[in-house]
Amino acid sequence: MKRRPLALLLVLPLALAGCSGQRAQTDGKAHITSFFAMDTFIQCTAYGEQAPNALERVQQRLEELESLWSVTDEASEIYAINHSAGQPIVLSDETSKAVSFALEMAEQTGGALEPTIYPVLTAWGFTTEEKRVPSGEELERLLRLVGYGQVKLDKNRLQIPEGVQLDLGAVGKGFASDEAVHLLKESGVSSALLDIGGNIHAIGAKPDGSDWRLGLKNPDGDGNLGVLSVSDRAVVTSGSYERFFIGEDGKRYGHILDPVTGRPAESGLLSVTVIADEGKMCDALSTSLFVMGLERAAEFWRQNQSFEMILITEDGEIHLTEGIHSRFALSPAHIGRTITVI
Ligand code: ADP
Ligand code: MG
Repeated sequence: MKRRPLALLLVLPLALAGCSGQRAQTDGKAHITSFFAMDTFIQCTAYGEQAPNALERVQQRLEELESLWSVTDEASEIYAINHSAGQPIVLSDETSKAVSFALEMAEQTGGALEPTIYPVLTAWGFTTEEKRVPSGEELERLLRLVGYGQVKLDKNRLQIPEGVQLDLGAVGKGFASDEAVHLLKESGVSSALLDIGGNIHAIGAKPDGSDWRLGLKNPDGDGNLGVLSVSDRAVVTSGSYERFFIGEDGKRYGHILDPVTGRPAESGLLSVTVIADEGKMCDALSTSLFVMGLERAAEFWRQNQSFEMILITEDGEIHLTEGIHSRFALSPAHIGRTITVI
């Protein structure tokens, strides 16, 4: 996964602002656990008697996934793959599933999602504090190592050529939220809200039966652009304004890369929010639709239609799909902005 000191939450659970703590709290009816894992801040809120135990299981599970998928932890499976010198490795079931999903989504998105982009990401310094703009020659050389087609997965047996590197950074948090939701439901929790570094996942509705209200951050300034009302859904946002650096040339470089050029995607979008049943789907799609840009993303949606999305362009336009229109309300400061239904 990625190294990032603290995630800026792109979608904020409005009802939860200000709640935190190291251990599950049992004040009132909401049980809240917050901790740091998968290189990000995680806050889980669950209701009901089963919540404290269930939340403990969730924390354990997410820490387990982190130790399997970290790109930097020498004991992780992803580290083992990336240092396998071309030799096959036998993976755990969960890592096989995550890699298989990432490969499937890479195929479906025509390579906009590229799970082997890591060597290029490293060259830009996005994995460290030292950001830099690589030369065209360096990018060209590194791009030869990029291509999900080079990853051979046969059940749990994985093999990649030497130099190729795998990173679940764009799908891991979504995958983890699905795992957490599964555990909570299995424990009998029917109302909960998970925030995994800005990847939001709601189980059921709020205890009073009303929808969860999630603030959609304004990608171009302060505060919220609007509020999303959802139940039983995952909501994930990817944006260029979240993690970026300003180069010596004064240009802004974002952390989502276009696998064709090896450069930060400049698709005319500021952010993409995807709303769907599964966190992993939302995570994979928010990253790849951001790479695609408005036209290709709209076309992808027309072909699939198994999710909803909200796209915000650099010109400040808001484009969203029909199914989410009535669930999205602009904040008072943004009333009057044009919303286009895709
Ligand atoms: P975040 O995790 O920051 O909320 P994303 O889910 O959009 O955002 O994932 C971005 C991360 O995925 C980057 O930090 C990098 O590790 C990786 N990445 C960047 N570009 C791509 C890409 N085109 N395909 C797959 N992974 C990418
Ligand atoms: Mg993602």
